[in-house]
Amino acid sequence: MESSEKCCIVCGQKQVEGIAIWKAFICQSCEQEMVQTDVLDDKYPFFVERMKQIWKMEA
Ligand SMILES: [Zn+2]
Repeated sequence: MESSEKCCIVCGQKQVEGIAIWKAFICQSCEQEMVQTDVLDDKYPFFVERMKQIWKMEA
């Protein structure tokens, strides 16, 4: 059983490579995309909403 796979909070895919923030996990591709996304980009609010999920998990 592969235990290193985690479910990415942004894309919902199970990935091995990525970063852990609190109890959440963001895969490498999503993390790269977030870094490259401009605040004026249409995708930005989506990422912000996803990040909010992480803060809710912490509570
Ligand atoms: Zn992802």
